[in-house]
This record gives sequence, structure tokens and C-alpha cells, in this order.
Amino acid sequence: MNFKDYIRVIPDFPQPGIRFKDITTLLKDGPAYRAAIDAMKELVKHKEIDLIAGPEARGFVIGAPLALALGIGFVPIRKSGKLPGSTVEAAYDLEYGKDRLAIHSDSIQPGQKILIADDLLATGGTIATSIDLITQLGGEVVGAAFLIELGYLNGREKLQGIEVASLITY
Ligand code: AMP
Repeated sequence: MNFKDYIRVIPDFPQPGIRFKDITTLLKDGPAYRAAIDAMKELVKHKEIDLIAGPEARGFVIGAPLALALGIGFVPIRKSGKLPGSTVEAAYDLEYGKDRLAIHSDSIQPGQKILIADDLLATGGTIATSIDLITQLGGEVVGAAFLIELGYLNGREKLQGIEVASLITY
């Protein structure tokens, strides 16, 4: 399956110069969505993983089904102020903005092997911050898996030492 055929590219969203990769066109196609998750599972199934962590919101629609496919649990990483329990937090830069991410303090036990999953690797800021949060809790990040990687933004360089797997590259 050529997954790029299912991704819609919208120019100048959410601001001029950004070519937004819209995955909603993939998500609404059941067989394509399932095939994409299955293909991501193939990319990471050789790894020993205890939990998947994914950042809000599109990290949920990729990370949670991937966790189910692998038979392991899912930990949400959310924008500051959304998680009800005690959290650790960190600030980060986006390709187009700034934000704070949070994770429940008791969601990861020291030594657990964590795979981070998200829809798209752009500058790598979101994932670098997610790694920071997981590491603060004593988790070991064993890799990062993406539906899409924007190779021209060199996000991988921010993720030194982390094995990166992506299904589609632009
Ligand atoms: P970054 O922290 O720069 O790697 O960007 C991470 C998040 O921003 C991704 O998980 C996407 O949800 C979103 N994002 C950034 N750039 C784009 C883009 N060109 N198209 C779609 N989503 C994007």
C-alpha cells in the first residue's frame, strides 16, 4: 500500500510556509488505517517494549492502536493542565509555536522500556521533550515510531541515540 496516497497535504496551514500533512484522510479509511498500524508494528516488533507513550493529540490515534496491536499498555503525554493526577512537566518549541507537556508521575516505573509513538516527526521538539519527561520518571526510551517523518527538518538530529522508525518520509 502506498500510504502517501492517503495523506492530504494542505499548504499554508496553520500559517504561511507550513505544508501540513493531514492524516484525517488516512484515519477515515478503515483498511488503510489498519494497514498503517500493522506496518508500524512490523517496524518495531523486534524490540523489547513495556509501554508506548504518545503525545496529544495525534500521538494518541497512532500510539494507542499500536499498543493494542503489540499487546502492551499506552501512556498519554498531554498538554499542561489536562492530566488529573500528579505530573512532571517540561516546556518545548513546535515547528509553529510553543507549549508545555505533562505526564502522570506514576505512569512509568523506573527501568521500563518505552517506545514513543506519534503521527509526525517535524523538528523533533515534541519528542525530545517527551524523552525528557520519560527519562525524569526513570523510563528507558528504546525508540520512537512515526507514521510520517519530515526528513528536511532533520528532527532525527535532536533524538541522538534513539532508534527512529518512520513509515512515510517527505
Ligand atoms: P515537532 O515537535 O516539530 O517534531 O512537531 C511535532 C508535532 O507537530 C507533530 O506530531 C505534528 O502533530 C505537528 N506537526 C508539525 N509539523 C507538521 C506538519 N507539517 N504537518 C502536520 N503536522 C505537523
